[in-house]
Amino acid sequence: TKYVYEFTEGSRDMAGLLGGKGAGLAEMTRLGLPVPPGFTVTTEACKVYLATGEEPDELGVEAAQALAGLERAMGRTLGAPDDPLLVSVRSGARFSMPGMMETILDIGLNDQSVTGLAKASGQERFAWDSYRRLIQMFGRTVMGVDGDLFEQAISAHKARRAVATDHELDTGELVELTDEFKDIVRKETGEDFPQDPAEQLARAIRAVFDSWNGERARVYRLREHIPEDLGTAVNVQAMVFGNLGPDSGTGVAFTRDPASGESGVYGDYLPDAQGEDVVAGVRDALPLSELKVLAPRTYVELGDHLRTLEDHYRDLCDVEFTVERGKLWILQTRVGKRTAEAAFRIAHDLGADGTISADEALVRVDGAALTRLMFPRFDTTPADVPLAHGVPASPGAAVGVAVFDSAEAVRRAATGEHVVLVRRETTPDDLPGMIAAEAVLTSRGGKTSHAAVVARGMGKVCVCGAEALTVDPVARRFTTRTGVVVDEGDTVSVDGTAGTVHLGALPLTASDVGRALETGTGAGPLTEAVLGALAHADSVRRLEVRANADTPEDAARARALGAQGIGLCRTEHMFLGERRALVEAMILARDDTARGQALAALLPLQREDFIGILTAMDGLPVTIRLLDPPLHEFLPDRTELAVRLASAANPDPHDRDLLRAVERMQEQNPMLGLRGVRLGLAVPGLMAMQVRAVAEAVTNRLSAGGRPHAEIMIPLVGTVEELRLARTEAERVLAEVAAETGTTLDCPIGTMIELPRAALTAGRIAEAADFFSFGTNDLTQTTWGLSRDDAEASFFPLYLEKGVFEVSPFDSIDQEGVGRLVELAVEAGRAVNPRLQTGVCGEHGGDPDSIHFFHRAGLDYVSCSPFRIPAARLEAGRAAV
Ligand code: ADP
Ligand code: MG
Ligand code: MG
Repeated sequence: TKYVYEFTEGSRDMAGLLGGKGAGLAEMTRLGLPVPPGFTVTTEACKVYLATGEEPDELGVEAAQALAGLERAMGRTLGAPDDPLLVSVRSGARFSMPGMMETILDIGLNDQSVTGLAKASGQERFAWDSYRRLIQMFGRTVMGVDGDLFEQAISAHKARRAVATDHELDTGELVELTDEFKDIVRKETGEDFPQDPAEQLARAIRAVFDSWNGERARVYRLREHIPEDLGTAVNVQAMVFGNLGPDSGTGVAFTRDPASGESGVYGDYLPDAQGEDVVAGVRDALPLSELKVLAPRTYVELGDHLRTLEDHYRDLCDVEFTVERGKLWILQTRVGKRTAEAAFRIAHDLGADGTISADEALVRVDGAALTRLMFPRFDTTPADVPLAHGVPASPGAAVGVAVFDSAEAVRRAATGEHVVLVRRETTPDDLPGMIAAEAVLTSRGGKTSHAAVVARGMGKVCVCGAEALTVDPVARRFTTRTGVVVDEGDTVSVDGTAGTVHLGALPLTASDVGRALETGTGAGPLTEAVLGALAHADSVRRLEVRANADTPEDAARARALGAQGIGLCRTEHMFLGERRALVEAMILARDDTARGQALAALLPLQREDFIGILTAMDGLPVTIRLLDPPLHEFLPDRTELAVRLASAANPDPHDRDLLRAVERMQEQNPMLGLRGVRLGLAVPGLMAMQVRAVAEAVTNRLSAGGRPHAEIMIPLVGTVEELRLARTEAERVLAEVAAETGTTLDCPIGTMIELPRAALTAGRIAEAADFFSFGTNDLTQTTWGLSRDDAEASFFPLYLEKGVFEVSPFDSIDQEGVGRLVELAVEAGRAVNPRLQTGVCGEHGGDPDSIHFFHRAGLDYVSCSPFRIPAARLEAGRAAV
């Protein structure tokens, strides 16, 4: 194996072997840009070292040869007593990890060569400043000396001279400081600072290898999902100096503005300084445009190189550069990081001028960035310290007064006040308050708690699990750990993107993109870029995108955002509020007559619900799921009832009946109990009422000239027998309504696949189904055998930390397990019924990675919350190119 490559030998395709920085240096060398020469020790060498604790045998010889070549090219010798060659030893992994690993500058200086450098450069102060920097950096990173000791020594000198900056220390001071640094090294390590340049180089390379496993680097990799075993390359490069006087300097430059994406060179410049000073913020940098004034020729040359790089990489590039006595050197380049806004604008502009194809422009943006752009944002400064941090459950920014129960939220919102509903956790009872509120804030629960899921579905700002808050709904206030008390009526700001809550009203910036997406109109370069990307995504994607929506308002909003129908219309929300009394009556009914009366009273209400939704989605499919949750969810809490009965002087007989019903229906494990299709089969008349409501809504719409496309979906089927029974009943009712009204009803009947048994017997189930809709939330719970609400709060953090999963299987579909079931079921179902429609309606329908998986699995559509639809369209397009 070859472990060392000169910059002239590598190229950008070799980032795995040479690291991103090494590949960039090699590529720029090939392009003829002014790169100080050097060579790269490969990541393979690093891997050998990390595995065995020894450098590979060949490395010594190869590095010595490469160094000799470098010395020849430069006409100088590393660390030679007069006019020494100095080198930097720079880390650089495959993926950029800025500032996470070590870089050591000025290798080659020692007690002799420092004088040589002083003579050759004609600047004594510079030479001694470089030497003390080397001892400092080398002492800290290679020899493990506490960096503070050096800083303290510098501070002492500055104090003695009464100066503020390192810059003002004169040569004499620096000579003394160098001696003190050597003493520190000796005292701390029992060893002298090594004078042998070759030893310095070898040890510096080793230290860079070691920095792969430094604390900072490990934490960064974990967060960025960078694999642990890649290792870093090491770049050894001839030093150039930006600190040789006013005609020298250093800076960073971008080919476009990485914040806005606007075209035009952009960056910072610091005269008479070295690269590390810019990062350290020793002095304030000047805007790059100043370089135009200070050194016009250099500025033009830099502009040329930036253009060369952007044309070559066909993307935004950034560079680190240094000017040494008027001569420009480029020290680093990479395809630059950028904001969401810049990502869209740059992709659009490069696509528009033909630099990249429309497909490529689409690949360069993503759904997560789009989602960030859709919401209003707070204009915060670091001085805005939050009251508490929680889980950023549903993005966006909202300001309102704190209220502590649903009724108060509704009351205040009705008067036009903006409110933030604050609860320990929410239940279905809080729904009206959540709808009325601008934001929901809870002190308990994770990303899939009731508050989070419902708020996300509504596109409402939500921060949940803000554990530092003590919520007292009785006193109507919450208290923070630091003792701040927020009473009902106090204004708070909730940042659902960052997961924070602030006291008072932070200034808000509206999102043009959000408005443009909902109205289809809007001007400005960003809006144009976003709409352009979406239009292309729509033209290439195979997956359709539907919405999960239960109300006409949500349906209309979803449609405006591009939904091609409703993939999941839940009916349980339609049973809440005032209708609860009717549901109670149905549950408490002692005989068929009483139950029939309760159901008959629900029928027209339910029919109106469906008419509203079918109207909003006219011409597009609406998949209506029959009642799914266990019935006790519609009854009062058992303890509350018992307390009420016990404390009442004249116990209400209705309450007593209710309590008996609640007790009768108590289940150990309701998630696995009487729900879904089981409920439809067990409660006489319930399914018939719901199907009739659908059928009558359809005939109503037809006679009004509409184009309704309702589909009936049976939840939680485990065996084809269940579906057959349900289907027979549904078809009977459909035929009945058709006969009564003299219409033909074409209403597909299908099922959710959300139990492993259903997926495994999908071939049988497909005999009785017109469509499959994968309920991946329940399918994940039942496949893993865990309850989402319980698991997320208890052991998920541990599992994520231990790497049992990289992301929660509820956030992104578990492709090997749950995803495998989806693939099996699609294949088996289609084999039996080639016209079978397939889709997914779990939360995963809006998750980018999951969407790419569903595309590969061959599904027909994904369905997700209305506000996730633009991102889903974009990702479905990206999956297809
Ligand atoms: P990072 O990956 O943290 O950016 P670098 O390897 O880029 O670390 O080095 C840090 C700083 O040192 C950079 O700002 C760069 O300008 C400067 N530097 C590195 N090598 C040289 C060199 N050969 N000559 C002059 N400055 C250098
Ligand atoms: Mg750098
Ligand atoms: Mg389900």
